[in-house]
Amino acid sequence: MKKRILLLAGGQSGEHEVSLMSARSVLSALPRDQFDVTPVVISKQGRWLPPTETQRALESGEAATGGDLVLHRVASAEGYDAVFPLLHGPMGEDGTVQGLLTLAGIPFVGSGVLGSAVSMDKVMTKQVLESAGIPQVAWRLAVRREWQQDPQGVRDRAAELGFPLFVKPANLGSSVGISKVGTPDELDGALNLAFGLDRRVILEAMTSHKPREVEVGILGNDAPIASPVGELRFDADFYDYETKYTEGRATMHIPAPLPPEVAARVRTEALAAFRALDCAGLARVDFFYVEETGELLLNEVNTMPGFTTTSMYPKLFEAAGVGYSELVTRLVELALEER
Ligand code: ATP
Ligand code: MG
Ligand code: MG
Ligand code: MG
Repeated sequence: MKKRILLLAGGQSGEHEVSLMSARSVLSALPRDQFDVTPVVISKQGRWLPPTETQRALESGEAATGGDLVLHRVASAEGYDAVFPLLHGPMGEDGTVQGLLTLAGIPFVGSGVLGSAVSMDKVMTKQVLESAGIPQVAWRLAVRREWQQDPQGVRDRAAELGFPLFVKPANLGSSVGISKVGTPDELDGALNLAFGLDRRVILEAMTSHKPREVEVGILGNDAPIASPVGELRFDADFYDYETKYTEGRATMHIPAPLPPEVAARVRTEALAAFRALDCAGLARVDFFYVEETGELLLNEVNTMPGFTTTSMYPKLFEAAGVGYSELVTRLVELALEER
């Protein structure tokens, strides 16, 4: 019998449009002889759209308004075998939707509440991975209330890391709200931008030199496997939103031309991070490789990485011999697996 899959896309985060792009790819790839797929787009206001509005949103690539309240729709999701929450960022990739689906008793693709929540928050991720002995850049946390009440304290903490440094909302992706701060006078603007998007902000020391950016895909539940390592190259100061999503700005190199020993470290540390964070299903683990010093620093773990047919995660597994349709099929199987 065909499995009934509910594909959730869009959502309330700054990565709404990115999610819709991924959803179009997944929709056309899930084999129709095995799966009966129903997409539901979540509007930017968090409401779940009915079929005709969903179709319109998938075509236009955006849903600002419309739809029903979430609980109403989850109750009617009961007839599905699994849900594919193809949502990025807060209210989607951060354990909230995963909690709702857990309560509703519906299996879903990807990490559960714990792995999603901890991996989404860059500070929590750093803390957990630190205790797992995985090398990362130096960092500090700042919360919005501190920034409002004691801005100098936050500035001083940032200065401890030295310049340039990175200021990031703790719970976002696609480089939304991230600034590279070259000098102290640029700091306030960067903090205001990040605090406009998140209550928690991470301050990060920049790597000692401009890093090479390497990424690896992880697939599986309690016996995960690592893909070959990929590298992103681009001609920009850092990998910002525009560079990520403007056609032709960045190139993917799979496998990354790395010394075999470095590629092996990437895969080993990514698997260790996946386990330490209690991830499941899939994750894309991103690293900085500082060629000048040989340092390999784990940057972040994305539990629902970009998923268009040309995105890094599917491309990494394609290089390992797992094509796009096979990959999404495998993810649904992993969602249904006994753990
Ligand atoms: P994604 O879309 O992969 O989820 P993100 O929004 O979570 O990305 P990061 O990966 O943390 O953001 O940072 C975006 C980019 O900024 C990195 O790919 C890199 O180019 C640059 N960058 C971030 N932090 C640092 C750092 N500490 N040192 C050097 N470069 C950095
Ligand atoms: Mg990220
Ligand atoms: Mg992300
Ligand atoms: Mg990243």
